[in-house]
Amino acid sequence: MTNRPVVVSTEPIDVERARAETPGCAEVAHFNNAGASLMPRPVVDAVVGHLELESKVGGYEAAGLAADRIDRVYGAAADLLGCAPDEIAVVENATRAWDMAFYSLPFGPGDRILTARAEYASNVIAFLQLARRHGVSVEVVPDDETGQLSVAALRDLIDDRVKLIAVTHVPTNGGLVNPAAAIGAVAGEAGIPYLLDACQSVGQMPVDVAAIGCDMLSATGRKFLRGPRGTGLLYVRRTLAETLEPPFLDLDSARWIAADRYEIVPGAHRFETWEGNVAAKIGLGVAIDYALGWGLEAIRDRVVGLAESLRAGLAALPGVAVHDLGRERSAIVSFTVGRATPVEVRRQLATQAINVSVSSRSSTRFDMEARGLEAVVRASVHYYNDKAEIERMLAAVARLARARPAGCPPR
Ligand SMILES: *Cc1c(COP(=O)(O)O)cnc(C)c1O
Repeated sequence: MTNRPVVVSTEPIDVERARAETPGCAEVAHFNNAGASLMPRPVVDAVVGHLELESKVGGYEAAGLAADRIDRVYGAAADLLGCAPDEIAVVENATRAWDMAFYSLPFGPGDRILTARAEYASNVIAFLQLARRHGVSVEVVPDDETGQLSVAALRDLIDDRVKLIAVTHVPTNGGLVNPAAAIGAVAGEAGIPYLLDACQSVGQMPVDVAAIGCDMLSATGRKFLRGPRGTGLLYVRRTLAETLEPPFLDLDSARWIAADRYEIVPGAHRFETWEGNVAAKIGLGVAIDYALGWGLEAIRDRVVGLAESLRAGLAALPGVAVHDLGRERSAIVSFTVGRATPVEVRRQLATQAINVSVSSRSSTRFDMEARGLEAVVRASVHYYNDKAEIERMLAAVARLARARPAGCPPR
């Protein structure tokens, strides 16, 4: 099982099969894939099956029996991201993955961190903490005229005090895809470490660390990868990992080799902790293999097509504004409906078995403030969504847009 060849499909998605293998498709039109996707049957079975096994033979004994399946998560993640298995750490979420890389990097007074306008709140909070502790300066690279990070502006900001380029590939709050590979080229040329938050891109499009040229990358299991909650991935290039001392260590990421000495283990394993949710970890490996089975190109083609048709349908509705930026677009569609608050829109759609989410200013403050947005409705598609669900969603939003807000007199 460990060295199973990867079957990379080049077929378009068989939507009927995808839906048949997704129990949730019978229950709800799920447009909250950027929050947490519906898990496919093989992932649910793997997680539940391992919990059953633990209940029968004991947790340590079950892990022993499932050693190949546990190991496969590293191979699967390596196949997915185009790296080696020992460059992958499996942790409990993308934030902790990102933190383990970020807080391992050495910073001193006067060092500069360059980031993008779409950066995620948790990452910026970490920047601000280091700014306060170590006198680091945090600078936001301006966007270009399409709303993606301006690579020319990034290049102009580079000097030898820049110690990190950390950007979000696909933001949490809209359809933008930042030019990750062009940023990688600038970082590589200047020899500056490059940390990519790929939480929203991994699983919905091909993401290859060599093609992008990033040194570190974080992702989560439950979003477009369709894995279980409480799982995250960190990639760190081997030669960089060997130079980094993680902010926390335990008896698995390091060895206590003499009364007064420890030694950090090789590779990305140093960013993990010993204890974890084994069933979820196995489920993540199965989810990655399931995605590889469909093929990331096929997944991207399908989600981009669905998202574009949703965007076009929403933009054509009177009173509805679509807010997505960028030259290249993802599976995430952001919009507002007249004077209805996004929370109210989410509530109304939920009563019709349509799941969307709300992205508020505090998740992506640099971007939302710059655009004067308080909150947006976020509808994120996956390849198992179908045309009928999109029509149902558009009809429901059209009814909301026509409805007068409570307390407003007729015009
Ligand atoms: C969701 C998200 C994260 C955090 O992922 P967790 O798994 O919840 O820690 C980080 N960055 C972006 C862009 C996200 O959308």
